[in-house]
Amino acid sequence: MAALKVLVGVKRVIDFAVKVRVAPGGAAVQTQGVKHALNPFCEIALEEAVRLRERGAAAQVLAVSVGTSVCQETLRAALALGADRAVLVQLQEGEGPPGPREVAAALAGVVAREKPQLVILGKQAIDDDCNQTGQLLAAMLDWPQATFASRVELEAGAVRVQREVDGGLETLRLRLPALVTADLRLNEPRYATLPNIMKAKKKPLEVVEWAALGLPPPLPRLRVLGLQEPPARGGGERVDDVAALVDKLRQCGRI
Ligand code: AMP
Repeated sequence: MAALKVLVGVKRVIDFAVKVRVAPGGAAVQTQGVKHALNPFCEIALEEAVRLRERGAAAQVLAVSVGTSVCQETLRAALALGADRAVLVQLQEGEGPPGPREVAAALAGVVAREKPQLVILGKQAIDDDCNQTGQLLAAMLDWPQATFASRVELEAGAVRVQREVDGGLETLRLRLPALVTADLRLNEPRYATLPNIMKAKKKPLEVVEWAALGLPPPLPRLRVLGLQEPPARGGGERVDDVAALVDKLRQCGRI
């Protein structure tokens, strides 16, 4: 079991604390000059993989990102958080962004080269909320999958996963190789320390061109026709007492 390799998919997204704005033209969000970060669910997936290695249940953690060269920054962040190696499946500027099917195909290509026994992805990316990559990848690999994991334990030749489902908890045992997607309560990710950020600069980061994986060009299958910001919120109003509040709520039909 100690030779087990874990592959973690990490996505670069706009930082969760940034207020997302629609870009001029209305068919994309503003990304220029905006702070980006590792997708929070990918941080949880990575933390789990690093903990498995720290417990001696896994030997190596490989972080993989699919995107343009700016994703190298995301991979350096993953290396600072404990990944041993990183691979960028690189798209050229102007290509993409790849949809979940293209990302899953690229990750499947890296799985074929790297032969990990366990893949952990986030349950969703907070930018497009598409929430499909793990399921698509498991189907492409024909591997068992456990989505929305809140606990992961490795056993001989298998992984035991607890999932939060409506009305309780479900425990699954999957034969390896297997795919797991991480839910919010799986763990609390660590922060990168300065020494680890420095060490990450020396860890191996391999760039693999999209075409080198033998994949067809990542042509988008859907086009975003328009985006709209939610209507601006009206200002608040102070009232003197509870009776006035109840009166106001009645007037505007809220009670
Ligand atoms: P999504 O299906 O886009 O909501 O994303 C779910 C998970 O798939 C993310 O948390 C990542 O683990 C993985 N993923 C999605 N897009 C990428 C990408 N471009 N590169 C690497 N992993 C990705």
